Amino acid sequence: MDPDLIVVGSGFYGSTVARRFADAFNKKVLIIEKRPHFGGNAYSHFNKVTNIEVHNYGTHIFHTSNIKVIDFITRFAAFNDYRHTVLAKHDNEFYSLPVNLATINKIYRANFTSEQARDLIESEGREVPKNLANLNLENKAISSVGRKIYEALIKNYTEKQWQTPPSLLPAETISRLPVRFNEDNSYFSDTFQGLPIHGYGALFQNILAHPNIEIQLNTDFFGTIWSKQRTIPIVYTGPIDRYFNYKHGRLNWRTVDFEVEVLPQSDFQGMAIVNYPDADVAFTRIHEFKHLHPERENVSGTVIMREYSRFTTPEDEPYYPINSIDDREILLKYRGEIAALRNVWFGGRLGTYQYLDMHMAIASALSFFDNDLSPSFKLRDL
Ligand code: FAD
Ligand code: UDP
Repeated sequence: MDPDLIVVGSGFYGSTVARRFADAFNKKVLIIEKRPHFGGNAYSHFNKVTNIEVHNYGTHIFHTSNIKVIDFITRFAAFNDYRHTVLAKHDNEFYSLPVNLATINKIYRANFTSEQARDLIESEGREVPKNLANLNLENKAISSVGRKIYEALIKNYTEKQWQTPPSLLPAETISRLPVRFNEDNSYFSDTFQGLPIHGYGALFQNILAHPNIEIQLNTDFFGTIWSKQRTIPIVYTGPIDRYFNYKHGRLNWRTVDFEVEVLPQSDFQGMAIVNYPDADVAFTRIHEFKHLHPERENVSGTVIMREYSRFTTPEDEPYYPINSIDDREILLKYRGEIAALRNVWFGGRLGTYQYLDMHMAIASALSFFDNDLSPSFKLRDL
């Protein structure tokens, strides 16, 4: 294939850009993917023993309220109506997450009404001065749920997950989780939620099934393609610091290790995810995939996966940007480099060093296509 565009990475960002490009122009797009499969971190496979869909990189639940994203994604898959709930096991007891009235009452061994709970948490949160200039994860969490809940359910979990003191992490990481003074225990508040009925593999296969799209798996962009070509426009969704050969230093990422166990019993924990916020448990959570698809009947046994978090070494997959103060300084330097490039665009969670959910990766790919890539190709054709 003689491509008109090269997309590096076949996750949601790269695949969305490739499909929009293929649909809109009579031009070829080549996707380069270094892994042996497409789909990025949303990839899944069906376990042969149990026929249960296992999400290779941790449970991926689709949720969005963005109409453009819903329109795009439902072209390629039907979704079930799974609604995500999470329990956290702390000191051998289970607490509802995100924090709601039940969580507050259980932690305080009380029977507060919604109004009493709100008053209590607000007064606890006053420990953090209002309008504090430098909000970080720690003071943001204490101001939202009070120190007692912070210490029970957030502090150790966050330290395990990020291996960084919460006071050095950005407040936005915790702002994703709502605090509710009612019994609503939904993890997400979006209008559209669920899992692709035939799995993420089939969803990606449908996105990429277009005569103008070719995908090369097991191919690192920084191998032969990078050294040979400097003329074809590139959309790059790999790590931003890798692109510049780490000339301004390495950005810090967190990686996750998974320990999978196939069990003969029909149910292990009764739900898809249980979090373990205590410091004496090494893993952060246990996934049990069958609960994501209660509509599937032809499965047997169960598959669980313990998730462990740690800093990346140069050999590891970078998963989560840590985004500490030092990282943000390095990132600014790379952004300066990007501004000077022509015909290379950076996108996705690795390419922008941002914590993006799937719907955010798709939304930003759609607007990048409409606002930048498409106008640039239209100009070329003039
Ligand atoms: P990625 O999916 O990371 O894709 C980037 C691709 O680029 C990868 O396939 C990589 O192999 C490839 N690549 C990198 N460098 C090169 C190179 N040099 N050459 C060739 N290819 C390269 N989101 C949700 O909405 N809901 C969830 O429940 C959820 N749970 C998550 C749980 C975990 C444990 C993790 C890690 C993420 C979760 N996410 C979730 C986020 C979701 O994975 C991301 O939003 C999504 O993967 C972003 O897509 P992307 O295309 O930006 O990046
Ligand atoms: N968090 C926590 N305790 C929990 C769950 C989440 O302290 O039991 C915090 C933690 O800092 C985490 C953030 O809330 O990084 C966002 O949680 P989310 O579940 O959205 O993270 P993800 O699923 O992306 O790992």
